[in-house]
Amino acid sequence: MPTRHGTAVTSENDKPQTSVPKSAKSQALTAVKGMNDLLPPTSAHWEWLEDKVRGLMARHAYRNLRTPIVEPTALFVRGLGEVTDIVEKEMYSFEDRLNGEQLTLRPEATAGVVRAVVEHNMLYDGGKRLYYMGPMFRHERPQRGRYRQFHQIGAEALGFPGAEVDAELILLAATLWQELGLQDVRLELNSLGQPSERAAHRAALIGYLEQHLEVLDEEAKRRLHSNPLRILDTKNPAMQSVVEAAPKLIDFLGEASLAHFNAVRAILDASGVSYRINPRLVRGMDYYNLTVFEFVTDRLGSQGTICGGGRYDYLIEQVGGKPAPAVGWALGVERVLELLKEQGSLPDAVGPDVYAIVPDASALPVVFATLQTLRTQGLSAQMHASAGEGMGSMKSQFKKADASGARLALIFGGDELARGEVTVKSLRDGQGAQISLPLSDVAVGVTHRLAQENARLQSA
Ligand code: ATP
Ligand code: MG
Repeated sequence: MPTRHGTAVTSENDKPQTSVPKSAKSQALTAVKGMNDLLPPTSAHWEWLEDKVRGLMARHAYRNLRTPIVEPTALFVRGLGEVTDIVEKEMYSFEDRLNGEQLTLRPEATAGVVRAVVEHNMLYDGGKRLYYMGPMFRHERPQRGRYRQFHQIGAEALGFPGAEVDAELILLAATLWQELGLQDVRLELNSLGQPSERAAHRAALIGYLEQHLEVLDEEAKRRLHSNPLRILDTKNPAMQSVVEAAPKLIDFLGEASLAHFNAVRAILDASGVSYRINPRLVRGMDYYNLTVFEFVTDRLGSQGTICGGGRYDYLIEQVGGKPAPAVGWALGVERVLELLKEQGSLPDAVGPDVYAIVPDASALPVVFATLQTLRTQGLSAQMHASAGEGMGSMKSQFKKADASGARLALIFGGDELARGEVTVKSLRDGQGAQISLPLSDVAVGVTHRLAQENARLQSA
């Protein structure tokens, strides 16, 4: 018997426990805490941002990759590192009731991208440039700029070892800020070197931190031997001065790592992108090496990182693939939009080009045919729809037309229709006279009228 989960079950006992207690049934349900509905008109800002990203990615020859939202838990434990905030306390992990698999709602997408690239042997003919957009899930304390379901857009270049790809990705992000009109974003840059360099630094760091045990919080003490580098990423103000004076990884880099870092810097310098070297920038995941970077702003309080990324040359191997280098970043959509809103640079809401006023339902067949013509010509058109008995008075229809934000009203009155015409009236430009257009040529007439209005509004 198929259930609504689409799985065949053989007995009542196998049935998933999805029933709701009787007493709770009449209560209105609300969204899960920290997971938000996205409603119009705000959703239009998201579409605007996504369109900008798609255009930009296409112009950089990055191609879209879509991976599942649910992945095996082991992917993140192996990929992100066991001693990380995400794996230790932020993952939505659960057991599949039907087959016992350990699953997790993806907290980030890089691990899934790498899994997909390996699974489909995508690097067989050379490196790949990819991007994604979508929801991620982390069980954090919800606050401004920090949610439990949030959204990332990310770009990854896999199979390329050279610093020029690190620079390409950083410049791509910087170009996106420019095209969005985002201000007050600064770039912070660091190099984490290679594992052997990190090991030498790690020993020095542990030695140093052991001399300051009294200042370390519980979490830091716990991480002192398992992941001391992450202590440098602490948000605890009481630990800042100790962390600031700690041995710097950058002083432990060998010749090749330094050369890579300098090559990235040289391209950024030549491209006029400014940055600050932040020796304490370590990033939240274990998988990074060499270049790491963040774009940060002071205008969003403590949720100031809008985009972060770096090189992760060992992750592909970690996830079971043939070793291959990679580099990428992810931006937080909510934070980017919040910053744009803060700056007043989100685009205004746009209504349809045309709102169809329908005095009598007998006109509906002509209305449908006419609007269809307009839409095939690329114009947007909204039809008045009845809200009860009849189509509603002209007054109430015009009120709806105004509220829709439409530029023009098309009035499908009986007398005009009998002459093969429709009346067009401006809703936003008081100077435009009411005129009749032949139905046979309505798209040309409407387009002309919109152009006239644009010219008038621009010169005003
Ligand atoms: P933070 O230090 O703020 O927790 P992070 O280092 O955990 O950030 P990353 O894993 O690097 O974040 O994710 C990349 C980007 O995704 C962040 O720079 C941020 O813009 C966004 N982001 C991360 N977690 C959240 C969240 N819970 N809610 C909203 N956006 C988030
Ligand atoms: Mg975090």
